[in-house]
Amino acid sequence: MAKATITRSSCRGCHGVCQLLVHQDETGRIVKITGDKDSPTSQGFICPKGARAADTLYHPDRITRPMLREKGRGEAAWRAIEWDEALDLMESHFKRIIDEHGPEYIAIAQGTGRPYTEFTPRFCNALGSPNHVSPAHNCYVPRNICAGMTMGWFPQPDIYGRSGTMPRCVMVFGSNIMESGGEGGYCGKMVTKALDQADKTIIIDPRRIKACEGSDYHLALRPGSECALMLGMLHAVIVNEAYDKDFVENHCFGFDKLQAHIQPFTTRWAQEITGVPAEMIEEAALTFARTGPSALIWGNGIDESVSAFQTARAVYLLLALCGSIDAPGGMVRWVPPANLRPKSHMVDHSVQGAQFLSPEQQKKCISPFPLCPGAHPPTFWQACVDGKPYKPKAIWLIGTNPIMTHTRGDVVQRALRDHMEFVVTSDFFMTPTAAVSDLVLPAAHWLEQEDVVYFHKIWCVLSRKKLAQVGETRDDRAVMLEMAHRLGLDEAFPWKDWDDYLKWILEPSGMTFEEFAEKDILFGDMGYRKYEKEGFKTPSGKFELYSNVMEHMGLDPLPVYTEPPLSPVSTPELLDEYPFILMTGCKIKGFFHSEGRNIPALRKLHPDPMVDMHPEDAAALGLEAGQMVEVATPYGRQRFKLHPDDRLQRGVVHAEHAWWFPEREEPDFDCFTSNANLLFGNEHFDPISGAQPLKCLLCAVQPLSDAVESAA
Ligand code: SF4
Repeated sequence: MAKATITRSSCRGCHGVCQLLVHQDETGRIVKITGDKDSPTSQGFICPKGARAADTLYHPDRITRPMLREKGRGEAAWRAIEWDEALDLMESHFKRIIDEHGPEYIAIAQGTGRPYTEFTPRFCNALGSPNHVSPAHNCYVPRNICAGMTMGWFPQPDIYGRSGTMPRCVMVFGSNIMESGGEGGYCGKMVTKALDQADKTIIIDPRRIKACEGSDYHLALRPGSECALMLGMLHAVIVNEAYDKDFVENHCFGFDKLQAHIQPFTTRWAQEITGVPAEMIEEAALTFARTGPSALIWGNGIDESVSAFQTARAVYLLLALCGSIDAPGGMVRWVPPANLRPKSHMVDHSVQGAQFLSPEQQKKCISPFPLCPGAHPPTFWQACVDGKPYKPKAIWLIGTNPIMTHTRGDVVQRALRDHMEFVVTSDFFMTPTAAVSDLVLPAAHWLEQEDVVYFHKIWCVLSRKKLAQVGETRDDRAVMLEMAHRLGLDEAFPWKDWDDYLKWILEPSGMTFEEFAEKDILFGDMGYRKYEKEGFKTPSGKFELYSNVMEHMGLDPLPVYTEPPLSPVSTPELLDEYPFILMTGCKIKGFFHSEGRNIPALRKLHPDPMVDMHPEDAAALGLEAGQMVEVATPYGRQRFKLHPDDRLQRGVVHAEHAWWFPEREEPDFDCFTSNANLLFGNEHFDPISGAQPLKCLLCAVQPLSDAVESAA
């Protein structure tokens, strides 16, 4: 009889990529998942999502065979079919649409960065379609592109002690990874440890998050004013000459222009906009500059704004002035393990396959924001409905539930249900998005994947062994490979199958997958201050405080602040009707965006959609904890359970996003009642990246009438 086993793997329940121990009984069934204390990347950390990963794997509602729609879209009538029939159907629809209209009429959509990200943009580009739809514009990518323009690479906090030096000052800006789990290849434990070990800590967040306890500074700024705060901090560092003179003189371009530009943006000016006292802005800035090495943990709090790109620019400039760039314990360029072929676009952009898309096809991308790769989702969904500039005919949605996770899910639903000729979705469950598809493919879970894990972590590569197989689920990447062969995309996908691809990745190392899996983890040979030999990959060869690329593109080459379009400052006339600032998007510990509501153990942790507001604001409105309330904005109304929370500033409200109720009826699963994404419009964007101002809108909060409440 086989024995019970414990196997080390790497989680993909979110972006943390924590190393976990998977416990299997004698039959091979996964019975428990625990943190791995010996892991150098996560040191025993596990969050509820990781611990409950097998609940998704074995869930009775999981889609385990391809399902074909039998009646009209959204009529909840499905028939299980064979994989060959499903792939034949996709092949014939895709070929017909390419012949009749052109490849740009097929879109490939993906959710947040997951294993499929290695192939989704590549598949789309190879197909000849520029319409790769993802949340890139609101998540991570504005920072990433901005880093490329400013210094040629994307800096990461050096908090693993690879150099023997930990950051002495840690600033957390718009992220609460310490409570929510993982992000960008980091997990809450490693960040908490870095905060504990630092001499000084600075938290920039409108909420008094847990990390504020014991921190040296909590800069509780008005949501949406992030760029103004950064400009004030830059001003303080420059006028006090607290900057790293050697780095500025020898490795930066445009300091004189920055110095002149920053003059009006005093800490007093920043106080007026952000609400953070000028003295605190100055002290925090000087602390960050003088307590080096300084590192930054940042999150979507700065991405979702009409100033997203310029905020990122201002942050990079602050890091440069404070001497953090590629310094041990600062913000570094990770060196990936040698002797492996790059499998992450974070290491080699060609992984995404832009080289396979012709400039003519690129011009057909449905996006007014060419700096951000792929289609711009709000513009794309509207185009599907009104045909401007043209109406895409087919879409393959891979691991994404945009009816829940994009703004104006009602438009997304109409686009999919009423306007597309062919919709195929790959997912674990019948979601509101899958429910209006023609074909639903059963996606493999990370516990069912074999992988060389190489995306966010970069400084190391982890193994993932296939430990389960439920029904006929397949790895999305294996399905894309098969479809690529059927469509003649062999130049971009020369590998026979998934195993062949992994062999190719490992080939330079001379290791088989089994040998690699035996090692579990490979490290890069880290070096620091690499710019001293290599310079920076920018037009000037230096770190560009003044961006030559942006000047060339007609954009502001030095950071400027833009007030959110609907705010107490921009639209004071709306304050009588909408007296609160609304933000959304804070992560919920047990869920990952729209995932997890159907996992009983996770739902128990957080059973209802919540809106948080300061207890004094709630009391002033006569509202009580647990009461159902309606949040109203100029764009919509949604219902939530009230959670008075004195961690929020007075006048600020946070409503949760992506709530649907898997226990309710298909196809909508009541997905249009309690989703903060439906409170935002599709009118205002960062002019550079296309990001949306999800951290600052105006709203009202009112009791839900008894009649509506009992129906809720
Ligand atoms: S933080 Fe993310 S990667 Fe880590 S255990 Fe939780 S779900 Fe998995």
